[in-house]
Amino acid sequence: MSTATTLPVEASATSTTPRILDGVAIAAEIKAEVGLEVAALARQGICPGLAVILVGHVAASEIYVRSKVKTCHELGIYSEMLTPPDTITTEEMLDLVASLNARDDIDGILIQLPLPKHVDTRRLLGAVLPDKDVDGFHPVNAGRLQTGQPALAPCTPAGIMEILRRSNIPVAGQNAVVIGRSNIVGKPTALMLLNASATVTVCHRHSKEIIPFTRRADILIAAAGRPGLITREMIKPGAVLIDVGINRISDEAEMKALFGDDPARAATFAKRGSVVAGDIHPDACQLSSAYTPVPGGVGALTIAMLMQNTVTAARLRRGLPPSAHPDMV
Ligand code: NAD
Repeated sequence: MSTATTLPVEASATSTTPRILDGVAIAAEIKAEVGLEVAALARQGICPGLAVILVGHVAASEIYVRSKVKTCHELGIYSEMLTPPDTITTEEMLDLVASLNARDDIDGILIQLPLPKHVDTRRLLGAVLPDKDVDGFHPVNAGRLQTGQPALAPCTPAGIMEILRRSNIPVAGQNAVVIGRSNIVGKPTALMLLNASATVTVCHRHSKEIIPFTRRADILIAAAGRPGLITREMIKPGAVLIDVGINRISDEAEMKALFGDDPARAATFAKRGSVVAGDIHPDACQLSSAYTPVPGGVGALTIAMLMQNTVTAARLRRGLPPSAHPDMV
């Protein structure tokens, strides 16, 4: 783990204004494509179905699940929300998952995390049929991804790859550095970049120093959950910066340290008492050739990729070829 404020920047800032990689626009493009694919499947009498299990009442989870169900509705995907109480046991959850595994009208099963502490999350994620595992968290899908086989890939990493691909950012042969090694973001992102022929380095909280790595990155992916971790001294000017971090800042001094006098952030803070910040300091973004904003970058892709995975699962379960998703072929 390391931060830096004293190292000199190796070269002057790029002369061109950095490109903002607009996750909202890319997500809209993907959703439109998924909608067309759903319509084509409907002509063959197929309606993809997604079941979402939401246990108890976690406010943030309820918001996420509602917007997943709403997007299904918009795209013509059948969706079902199951809302067991937070007293549900692991065994009862396993029965619920088994019943969804057995249903032919359900192609995708999503268990909204986090689950109550007494529920065995790992056992449950392992109980979802790999071919219905639209979150891409099952060990079988992790193994398929690792061995470069068609897999239902985790949505956020798949979204990152879509941003790079649709923004015509070359990946093959580039030095890609991933900060964070979680099973849901860092690790699968590193594997996808490797599968796309990047030279990949993964840093994490036990890394002795990250600056020598971050400064060599042509593509830097920050997924540490540490606001403003990546400062301008830590990047190579002209690098592509992908910010996965979603950090809520409710301390005004911290907000000002990150965003200075940015009037839009100040207005949001005044209205809501907090703002969202990424892992990459805004000053570093100005040195890049392209970057994803927070909000409006990677986060915007996650639901679109879930929709795409649901359609892909529906196709694969019926022996149809997977959709045009590059991580599926
Ligand atoms: P996590 O806590 O599971 O993993 C964080 C990783 O970062 C760990 O591997 C840790 O070793 C590493 N790390 C932490 N501090 C570090 C430091 N100072 N230097 C180097 N490495 C460090 O988190 P996660 O679930 O992978 O999520 C990471 C971030 O991405 C969070 O902010 C989360 O909210 C966000 N997230 C966004 C989306 C999205 O849709 N955009 C989806 C999932 C997660």
